Amino acid sequence: KKRTSAEIRQLFLDFFAEKGHAIEPSASLIPVNDPSLLWINSGVAALKKYFDGSEVPDSKRIVNAQKSLRTNDVENVGVTARHQTFFEMLGNFSIGDYFRTEAVTWGWEFLTSPDWIGFDKDKLYVTVYPSDLDTYTLWRDVIGLDESQIVPCEDNFWEVGEGPCGPCTEIFYDRGEAYNFDTPIEELNPAGENERYLEVYNIVFSQYNAQAGLSRDEYQELPTKNIDTGMGLERMVSIIQDGATNYDTDLFLPIIAAIEKQSGKKYLSDAETDKSMKIIADHIRTVTFAIADGALPSNDGRGYVIRRLIRRAVRFARKLGLQKAFLYELSPVVAEIMDAYYPYITENMEFIQKVIRAEEEKFLETLHEGEELLKELLADNVTVLSGEDAFKLYDTYGFPIELTVEYAEEYNIEVDLTAFESAMEAQRERARTARGEQDSMHVQSEVLRNFKVPSEFLGYQSTRSRAKVIF
Ligand code: ATP
Ligand code: MG
Ligand code: MG
Ligand code: MG
Repeated sequence: KKRTSAEIRQLFLDFFAEKGHAIEPSASLIPVNDPSLLWINSGVAALKKYFDGSEVPDSKRIVNAQKSLRTNDVENVGVTARHQTFFEMLGNFSIGDYFRTEAVTWGWEFLTSPDWIGFDKDKLYVTVYPSDLDTYTLWRDVIGLDESQIVPCEDNFWEVGEGPCGPCTEIFYDRGEAYNFDTPIEELNPAGENERYLEVYNIVFSQYNAQAGLSRDEYQELPTKNIDTGMGLERMVSIIQDGATNYDTDLFLPIIAAIEKQSGKKYLSDAETDKSMKIIADHIRTVTFAIADGALPSNDGRGYVIRRLIRRAVRFARKLGLQKAFLYELSPVVAEIMDAYYPYITENMEFIQKVIRAEEEKFLETLHEGEELLKELLADNVTVLSGEDAFKLYDTYGFPIELTVEYAEEYNIEVDLTAFESAMEAQRERARTARGEQDSMHVQSEVLRNFKVPSEFLGYQSTRSRAKVIF
């Protein structure tokens, strides 16, 4: 019998608890005291207070299963096998305690020991930073990997501005030829689309101090070194349950079954239908958790992400022929799947459903009119949709700009995002003036916090050929 996702999550926690790690509960998706980040997007993001020394943890060894949200992956959802906007990252951490040898040895033991996950060693490949010979030697001489299984990779270095940084090593699972999107192993690229070799685990060796003006090989060693790791739960589950994608697992299939029932369409009968179902299944998980964690739909910052995801899900639902509010009916399915580790979702269900339903219904009221207008505008033989029209769709019909761009792309039309942005800025300015001086400071800091600082958040840029959205 194949292991369930709940069992796999627990197995990771148990393994590292046996290695002396304290189990830290999954923190809220909303960062605490961290204006630099819109959402918790990794296990380490929730533990930053320990890594930057602002708080001293009870244990120097920590393990967690952390809810994570990545808006930068929104366009991958339903397209790649391995991405969601909401996922769980399993992580083991050393805060100035163990380092390279233990991190690599334990990660390997967890993945390959028959007492734990028991992956076939021949199916695993690792990437290393080319000049990180310590890690290379460890894999080859201590773990006993064949040199053909160790792939140097320039991207394997974690560095954000000044401060702690270091090389990383990533573990990939070879899903076999059936999964091939025929990239050779030499091109196994963590940033790429290769899904035959699926990245499951990343170990970061935080050992240097990045300083401006110095090159990487001149950085000083840190007096205390840290380990930060991340293993994607859904990817592990897809391999263990032999699902073709993260969505073909017990974490998503019940949601997809509910969508099949609502729409009368069959999963795995048509690629476009599958994509829509995966997008809806992903977005409802994200929205359910984000609302349970205290975010609400609105027009900026986190609230805008929720609004945008709900509206995007509604848009794909229309492709399945769903015309009325339906999304809120999926939240209880999410709650049931996640109940073993996140019982608070069930406890807050009434509120979550109320928020989602109200947002859906509000959007549906204007959606039809907006779509008609948009189709008219796009059919009008134009090559560029004007910023004013895009703004009208946003302001009057509630079309997030990214949605307008996605529609436009279907017609091969560009959106004038610069003019749209000016119209938005003018509206913000009007709002600021209307609210008065004191409040405007607040608005400004809100805008700064939500739009400027986070590196992965919603910006958009226009390329000459077509509009590209960075969600
Ligand atoms: P990829 O290259 O596949 O996008 P990544 O290198 O961006 O992954 P990391 O930042 O190293 O991912 O995160 C650690 C682990 O978390 C990954 O190895 C993967 O298992 C998982 N992970 C990352 N992003 C996602 C996502 N969007 N959906 C599901 N799992 C993810
Ligand atoms: Mg990667
Ligand atoms: Mg990524
Ligand atoms: Mg990675």
